Amino acid sequence: MPRVLVVGGGYAGFYAAWHLERRLRPGEAEVVVVDPRPYMTYQPFLPEVVAGSVEARHAAVSLRRHLRRSTVVAGSVVAIDHASRTATVRPVEGEDHPLRYDVLVVTAGAVTRTLPIPGLAEEAIGLKHVEEAVAIRDRLLVAFDRASVLPPGPARQKLLTVTVVGGGFTGVEGFGELLSLATALLPSYPELTRDDLHFHLVEGSGRILPEVSTRPGRWVLRSLERRGGRVHLDTFLQSVEDGHVVLSTGEEFDSGLVVWTAGNGANPVVARHTDLPVDERGRVVVRADLRVGTPDQPVLDAWAAGDDAAVPDLTAGTPGALTVPNAQHAVRQGRLLARNIVATLRGRATRDYVHHDLGTVATLGLGRGVFESGPVVLRGFPAWLAHRGYHVLAVPTWERKVRVLAVWLPALLFGRDIVSLQSVQHPRDAFVSGGVPGAHR
Ligand SMILES: Cc1cc2nc3c(=O)[nH]c(=O)nc-3n(C[C@H](O)[C@H](O)[C@H](O)COP(=O)(O)OP(=O)(O)OC[C@H]3O[C@@H](n4cnc5c(N)ncnc54)[C@H](O)[C@@H]3O)c2cc1C
Repeated sequence: MPRVLVVGGGYAGFYAAWHLERRLRPGEAEVVVVDPRPYMTYQPFLPEVVAGSVEARHAAVSLRRHLRRSTVVAGSVVAIDHASRTATVRPVEGEDHPLRYDVLVVTAGAVTRTLPIPGLAEEAIGLKHVEEAVAIRDRLLVAFDRASVLPPGPARQKLLTVTVVGGGFTGVEGFGELLSLATALLPSYPELTRDDLHFHLVEGSGRILPEVSTRPGRWVLRSLERRGGRVHLDTFLQSVEDGHVVLSTGEEFDSGLVVWTAGNGANPVVARHTDLPVDERGRVVVRADLRVGTPDQPVLDAWAAGDDAAVPDLTAGTPGALTVPNAQHAVRQGRLLARNIVATLRGRATRDYVHHDLGTVATLGLGRGVFESGPVVLRGFPAWLAHRGYHVLAVPTWERKVRVLAVWLPALLFGRDIVSLQSVQHPRDAFVSGGVPGAHR
């Protein structure tokens, strides 16, 4: 029986495996999914995980629960030698080993792009994974507790200064949700006031949220500033050593929390450790039907989709245009990829990927958002409702939808949870210290 190896069970990989399971006849092919995480991350929920509006576990869609007919391997693919149809798997436990396959699906996504900025690696945190969203939230909550027992001054100010670098989708959503969380915390901290909060969004270009057109983009900027955020356009982070932020404008301040969301970088395995064709940005070159290769030189038995693939955008009308890296495309590409693999196994023709962009919907904090689809623009509460409605429908499986809704509904009545569980990082402290206060601070 041919083996289909899916490298990465994120958006595109999860949907590809899920749809292969549905389409394949018993005994037609086996599906193996390799991913170091036992779940697909529903990344659009991460800003709401930061804010405490979505339970962290609910942004994680279990591979084993939902891919019941696939074999799930907990590990990373560290090299692909497609000529010999062999991938090298590094399991989360144990030695590297070869895995033979007949058909390859590369859906390993992208990584957060970083730059050699002094202090960045030590101080900053990304916003692409569940653990990062949880840590960001916990750090803000802990900062409030610590600041509440300090007198006004530099130490307190640093704790309550948040810097988000990158004004794209992830940065703006993360910034809006963090601002929303911080503002919502204030009534519970009478020691602190709105003036104690300092929120900086740093963007290298002249505008934020390029995913929407200029007017709604300007509205988002004004709306964040009205809520007390400072947006630094045409500005770069120069250094962040010991939490001391230095901007290219010369402005400097201390910041207790620095979130880095300045773009996607190529997945290193895809970019450097395969014999597949990759473009100058480290993405697998695919044809319009998602088969790896070019129209004249297809690579047999290899397919790719999602953020790690350079997929021709046939709707753009411009030769060489590629689909943008987002969930909207990754899901649809994953599904089509499954269809095309099954068609190929049965000797039938493949279909090209054609998807007209549905628009953009972003959360900017509880009750606030922006939505744009063609000429239709919504702002504020209606856009936020559209965001929630869209994502609760889009998160895969009914089980996840119900769980997410089950958190949203009581939150309407009781508000969000505002305790940090950062102490789970040191679960033995109370046991080891025998209750001596501050022994393991
Ligand atoms: C905070 C945030 C909010 C977003 N919001 C939106 C939104 O509202 N709308 C939208 O359209 N898009 C949104 N996006 C973008 C969207 O989530 C991505 O475009 C999408 O996840 C890409 O899917 P993918 O399958 O290519 O990669 P991913 O979903 O990132 O999946 C890649 C998978 O591959 C695994 N992997 C990586 N390397 C290896 C390896 N070597 N071996 C095996 N497995 C590997 C990873 O663990 C991961 O599970 C958002 C992104 C972020 C970070």
